Amino acid sequence: MPKDPSALLSSIPSVDRLLDSAPLREAAGRHGRALVVEAAREVLDEVRRAIAGGVETDTRAVEPAALAARIAVRAEAEAAPSLRPVYNLTGTVLHTNLGRASLAVEAIEAAAAAAGRPSTLEYDVGRAARGDRDSHVEAQLCRLTGAEAATAVNNNAAAVLLVLSTLAKGREVPVSRGELVEIGGSFRMPDVMAAAGCILREVGTTNRTHLGDFEAAIGEDTALVMKVHASNYAIQGFTAEAPERALAALCAERGVPFAVDLGSGALLRLERYGLAHETTVAETLAAGADIVTFSGDKLLGGPQAGLIVGRRDLIAAIARNPLKRALRVDKMTMAALAATLALYRDPERIAERLPTLRHLTRSENAIAALCEEIAPAVRASVGDGFAVETRPCLSQIGSGALPIASIPSRAIAIGPKSGRGGALKRLAASFAALPVPVIGRVADGAFLLDLRCLEDAEGFRAQLAGLAVGDTPGK
Ligand SMILES: *Cc1c(COP(=O)(O)O)cnc(C)c1O
Repeated sequence: MPKDPSALLSSIPSVDRLLDSAPLREAAGRHGRALVVEAAREVLDEVRRAIAGGVETDTRAVEPAALAARIAVRAEAEAAPSLRPVYNLTGTVLHTNLGRASLAVEAIEAAAAAAGRPSTLEYDVGRAARGDRDSHVEAQLCRLTGAEAATAVNNNAAAVLLVLSTLAKGREVPVSRGELVEIGGSFRMPDVMAAAGCILREVGTTNRTHLGDFEAAIGEDTALVMKVHASNYAIQGFTAEAPERALAALCAERGVPFAVDLGSGALLRLERYGLAHETTVAETLAAGADIVTFSGDKLLGGPQAGLIVGRRDLIAAIARNPLKRALRVDKMTMAALAATLALYRDPERIAERLPTLRHLTRSENAIAALCEEIAPAVRASVGDGFAVETRPCLSQIGSGALPIASIPSRAIAIGPKSGRGGALKRLAASFAALPVPVIGRVADGAFLLDLRCLEDAEGFRAQLAGLAVGDTPGK
């Protein structure tokens, strides 16, 4: 029997009484009393409003057991971290939104050790004096790239900002019109120039820039010439760019530093591992660049960081900039970066040890075999309304490495048997709702799970039983 609102309102149990129930005593044990009290107040407020507004008229809504269950669910949701693991089955190995490179075990352990205890972050034990934060990575970066000096900051955007702000504040920086890039979100070269207080001097045209264009642009006010790697696009057709070597020689002749923002910055020759060639940092320095900037969590396969390598005098000036302090990396990043770079000393084993390289070099055959192994479990979990098959597909490196190159891979393709609108979207949502969300992609009329980056096949399969496919088409 529906009661009138005031009777319902007065039968709402007190927070204290609810907290004394078994499910909420248990929730308080796990998450602390304060969190459960907050969840209880929220839920009771909602119920009161619904009753007062005439939306809720059912006496069951105020039963203590029902309320306690609702509060327990709320407390659980509020205690759950929003930053949590997912399965990246998008086929994009370095997915910026999914955290880019997964760290090697060695890097994870080093970061954890640095996190939990005092360390030699800026302490020289031998001299019992203050040390240099960059010392943990500088020698290894120099060895790998041939640079004279190196420093690390928060990310590559910070690296570019710091280089420009140190070497070119208030002065001109010629950049080709074909390289005024936007790298996702808020990193747009013209805006970074403005933020660093530089005057962008556009050179050439969108498709063609010649050495002569730079020759004409370099003058009294030129602080630095900048070349930006075409990270996420390619200009094709009637194109020309100033050869890097010639541009470097021109800069040297005019006494102007030549900086290259490489973006991804490979440290190894990727063709050794069967991948397409990506210009390495060493090659760029050998071609005459005075400064090269690149990311730590792209092809390098380490933590988020920006690396600046090159001429000793320029790196020293950059390290003295007060902005460096604002952009420096923390101890966990430094530990993870040093441990990642250490893996590069053994190129024979790095393709197994560094997850980014391990995923990029995984053979199509191995991925196909994994698809065959897992497809039956996927078929069982999605039900009769969907066709499940293994399909060739293309993976991407992502994060602006080799933007147009893709790697042959295999995917489990799940397609609705009857073409009802929205079924694929709902299917993707149900995979994303699993305890460890599964992120795939919708393409060619199917929901694709590219298994290139799947390592924990057991964990993946185990949670499939809980898949709740909203509405099964064809039923
Ligand atoms: C990715 C990229 C950046 C930004 O690097 P973050 O490490 O994400 O800050 C800058 N320049 C180029 C050319 C890039 O590819």
